[in-house]
Amino acid sequence: MRRKVDLAALRHKMVVEQIQDRGVADQRVLQAMETVLRHEFVPYTKARDAYGDGPLPIGQGQTISQPYITAYMTELLHLQPTDRVLEVGTGSGYQAALLGCICEQVYSIEIITTHYVRARKVLEGLDYTHIHLRLGDGRMGWEEEAPFDKVIVTAAARETVPPVLIDQLSVGGRLVIPVGATIREQRLLVFTKKKIRTIQEEDLAVRFVPLVERD
Ligand code: SAH
Repeated sequence: MRRKVDLAALRHKMVVEQIQDRGVADQRVLQAMETVLRHEFVPYTKARDAYGDGPLPIGQGQTISQPYITAYMTELLHLQPTDRVLEVGTGSGYQAALLGCICEQVYSIEIITTHYVRARKVLEGLDYTHIHLRLGDGRMGWEEEAPFDKVIVTAAARETVPPVLIDQLSVGGRLVIPVGATIREQRLLVFTKKKIRTIQEEDLAVRFVPLVERD
């Protein structure tokens, strides 16, 4: 008989050793990582690996990011509970659930139907009913619900941020996106929208799957 794994203990260990010990200090992010049942979002066969220190395949050539990177990017957003947040790349729905733990207004777009359908089912099953999902091309943002205080893109753009996403950011808003011509050149970029201009800062080197481009 297989031994039952204490997933809550694994989750706590993940938060302390992979997230907190590496410098993520935002209490809201740490609390969300403690709360969200990551094993519900990864494929059933990978549930035992859900709290490991790496990315996991979620099918269709896509991956759910390493927990540390997810936490790090979430911290970079400087989330406030009142923020309206847009995520591009719902994937498994895990990042959306973290955002949903912190903020009341969360919108997430996914381009692959299989992921959209599965994420919807998982999020509904866990009662994240305030997370709004849409099937479509996230490079166009979500015009009807804009502006957003925070935007997070969880797939990499080749050259720079899609300009529409900056247009849909509110003044004072922040946007985090991996950008790079090749996977080796990718870095996280953080955009802060000011009244008359938008500031761009470079952050960590990362490895994300590219944004799907459908014309
Ligand atoms: N945030 C996800 C992981 C992202 S993997 C999670 O927590 O699990 C990247 C996701 O972005 C994939 O599901 C991919 O299908 C989606 N994606 C890629 N290009 C996209 C686009 N143009 N618009 C919306 N989603 C896109």
